[in-house]
Amino acid sequence: MDASERGKLLNKFADLLERDKDYIASLETIDCGKTFRNARGDVEFGIKTIQYFAGWTDKIHGKTIPVDGNLFSFTRIEPVGVCGLIVPWNFPLMMVTNKLGPSLAAGNTVVVKPAEQTPLTALYAGSLIKEAGFPPGVVNIVPGYGTTAGAAISEHPDIDKISFTGSTEVGKLIQQAAGRSNTKRVTLEMGGKSPLVVFADADLDKAVEMAHIGCFYNQGECCCAGSRTYIQEEIYDEFVRKSRERAMKKIVGDPFDEKTEQGPQVDHDQFTKILNLIECGKMEGAKIECGGGRLGKKGFFVQPTVFSSVTDNMKIAKEEIFGPVQQLMKFKTLDEVIERSNNTHYGLAAGIFTNNIETALLYTQGVRAGTIWVNCYLASGPQVPFGGFKMSGQGREMGEDAIHEYTEIKTVTMCIPQKNS
Ligand code: NAD
Repeated sequence: MDASERGKLLNKFADLLERDKDYIASLETIDCGKTFRNARGDVEFGIKTIQYFAGWTDKIHGKTIPVDGNLFSFTRIEPVGVCGLIVPWNFPLMMVTNKLGPSLAAGNTVVVKPAEQTPLTALYAGSLIKEAGFPPGVVNIVPGYGTTAGAAISEHPDIDKISFTGSTEVGKLIQQAAGRSNTKRVTLEMGGKSPLVVFADADLDKAVEMAHIGCFYNQGECCCAGSRTYIQEEIYDEFVRKSRERAMKKIVGDPFDEKTEQGPQVDHDQFTKILNLIECGKMEGAKIECGGGRLGKKGFFVQPTVFSSVTDNMKIAKEEIFGPVQQLMKFKTLDEVIERSNNTHYGLAAGIFTNNIETALLYTQGVRAGTIWVNCYLASGPQVPFGGFKMSGQGREMGEDAIHEYTEIKTVTMCIPQKNS
């Protein structure tokens, strides 16, 4: 099919997502507990992503290259082939659209495996793909467990590439499976324990609010959550007080209520893991400012929890909690906070709040992470690459860079009768 026709199909798919936006957002809320308001935001992001990549379809092309001698070379940019897209449960539709956009724009066929906890929106998107008129077999959606359906995709000799988002633990298994089978290409988006740094010269109220959202967004089930908050010592006590007040005002409850800011955690396993880590923080000597347990007696609701007096060696400062739990730490100097920010095997994101441009630039240079936010947090768009350094990932999603993750370069060299330049 003409590349521009692929663009039309993707745009049609985006239009159908738009038509059914509220229905899809409801499915997402039922499936994973996120608020309907956030679920609608996820669908809107998914629509923009598909539209963005629809525009790329006929702009993916090679180069002509001046080789020596009577030769002429050019490159063709070709699809990798069959791509396995394995996604997690925290942004079920968005993770699918993040991967469908660039993989289909580049002309691949795909096998999507949604997370076992949250298959509904991926399946519904499948019906829209069909309605949009994609040829049968281009997009295949196979729900199932990781150890069966997921592993079958990673081991399969006829799958040419895996794009995975999920835990670092499973990312390693996928790399191993790729190596054991056909050395399929692998891109990985994995966990994080991202630092969010607040300098004394920052706009304090804005920093408190952004640090709160950066940590608590999506019930804290966010790979790039700012889950290590470093605050310069001059403003530490005030920041702690304001953060506690903000967390105590958080509206937790029915995710379909427009006023609700935090719904239940995705399932019992996640709920238990978070409560255990909160207990661990208490035992290791961190101070509970608010929250610290389950909310109510029914459902997987966790109280918005703020810990102060956290030190870097505590488990809550090192492990991904993936829940509504904020860790507030104190620092003195820029060099110190750069070193402490980097003292992790993760490298997904980082944030800095300061009004000093030199401080901001030195921090962005010094920190090893795929995304650095300055005076904002979690701000994103389909146009900008997203991914991790170190054990947070390999390769990039979104933006032009994502297209290259789904293509092969073929070099064609031809003998010509003579050179004329
Ligand atoms: P997970 O790794 O357990 O599961 C992710 C997906 O992998 C699911 O579809 C699962 O079924 C599948 N899977 C599990 N075992 C598998 C195996 N052996 N072979 C193949 N597939 C397998 O992760 P999760 O608990 O669903 O999601 C939470 C994790 O995802 C967190 O660590 C979070 O940080 C990460 N995450 C990262 C990003 C990012 O962009 N970096 C985004 C969202 C979530």
